[in-house]
Order: sequence, then C-alpha cells, then structure tokens
Amino acid sequence: MRKKIVAGNWKMNTTLQEGIKLASEVESLSSQVPSDVTLIVCVPFTHLTEVKKVINRTQLGAENCASEVSGAYTGEVSAAMVASTGANYVIIGHSERRSYYHETDEILAKKVKLALANQLTPIFCIGELLSEREANRHFEVVKSQLQKGLFDLSADDFGKIVIAYEPVWAIGTGKTATSEQAQEMHYFIRNTISERYGKEVAKETSILYGGSCNDKNAAELFANPDVDGGLIGGASLKAESFIAIARSF
Ligand code: PEP
Repeated sequence: MRKKIVAGNWKMNTTLQEGIKLASEVESLSSQVPSDVTLIVCVPFTHLTEVKKVINRTQLGAENCASEVSGAYTGEVSAAMVASTGANYVIIGHSERRSYYHETDEILAKKVKLALANQLTPIFCIGELLSEREANRHFEVVKSQLQKGLFDLSADDFGKIVIAYEPVWAIGTGKTATSEQAQEMHYFIRNTISERYGKEVAKETSILYGGSCNDKNAAELFANPDVDGGLIGGASLKAESFIAIARSF
C-alpha cells in the first residue's frame, strides 16, 4: 500500500531557535496523527541537525540539495551533507527553485539521482503556471516535467520517489485547486507513471497535493482516490494547523 504523507515546507522561515520550538511542538502533537500517516518537516539547512534532536515520530527533510557531488560550489549543500544530518527526505524541484533560481529539468534530474544515491527520498514537485492552465496546457507541462526530471530512472529507483503536484497559481496564494482539479491531475500523473513504469509502480507511488492546503480544505482534498496527502507551506508554520491537516485523512 502506498504511503499517506503530510510534509511541511518551512521555506525561508524561522530562526534556528524558532525552528526548534516549532519542531518540538509538532513532535509533541504528533501522537494525535494516525500511525499510517508519515509526518515530515522539511526545514532550512541550518536547522537540520538541531531539529533532528527534538523529533522522533516526525521525519526530517531538507528543502533542496546541490546538483553536484562536492567541491568548489560556494554556498551549496550536497545530498551527502543533508543525509549526514539524519534527514531522510529532500524536496526537489519546488516551483520557487525552478523559477527564482532557474533550476531546469536537467539540473533537477541530477539532484534526484544524487538524493537517491545518498538514501534520501526525493519529494519531487511538478505543476503548471496559471497561464499554462488557462491555455489548457497543464497536462502537457506536468507530463514533460515528469519525463525530463524522473523518467530516466530505473523502475526500482522510481519506486522510491514521492511526487508533489503543486499548481504554481495555488502556492501561497490562498487559491486552492478544487478537489476535482486535484483528482483529475493526480489521476493523470498516475496514468503517466503507469505508461512508463507499469501499473504496479504507479499504484505504489505517493502523489501529494500542494498549494494553499490548510486544515479547512485538507479533508476534501485527501478524500480523493489519487491524492495521498499534502505538501504544506504556510499552514506548516503553526504546529496546530499542520497536525490538524495530518489528521484529515
Ligand atoms: C509549498 O510551497 O510547497 C506550498 C504548498 O505552499 P502553500 O501551502 O503556502 O501554498
């Protein structure tokens, strides 16, 4: 059975001290979350080691990693460095990385391989811009992101990936995809995976929804057959709302 997952993406928020406090609060409320739900906090690089010390039931992830192994890349943090903190997950291809830092499909494909080589589970983000949806190109865009970022992997490696569908127009805007829009796209993603890797792999792939998901709309989104949880930005910065989302299945 594929995993149900709720992952927080803290982005560039919280000082180290605030982050430790938030992670401690999440951990102390995590006993309210059903045991079949994987709860993850993806935190800034600077917080990984200290947050790891205050969590147990909650899993740890980074928000990014480098596309190179090591060496003269000032300011970069490698997948091996992330793994050495005890993190198990890494977000790759968030739309903010794709757009503000010009991370191309080719760069992201390299990051995915390095994450996997270091036993990190990539949470691989895909999603269309508003203009692309309005031009009815959303399926084509998402398919291309999947193909270029992931479809070079062996079936074995693809089986380790978590997908996050995040329509860019819904991220941080308060404008959530409708439950029907989310299910329609998640079904399409699963079908596209099935065409490449077969039904079994597709059935086992967790596909998360992200984009203004909160404790009011999570239950309706998660009730869809192809929505396996959420990647949560703003609402993950308050332990109570994050935990309420994780209790919404
Ligand atoms: C995100 O950045 O991954 C995200 C889903 O943000 P928000 O929940 O704030 O829209």
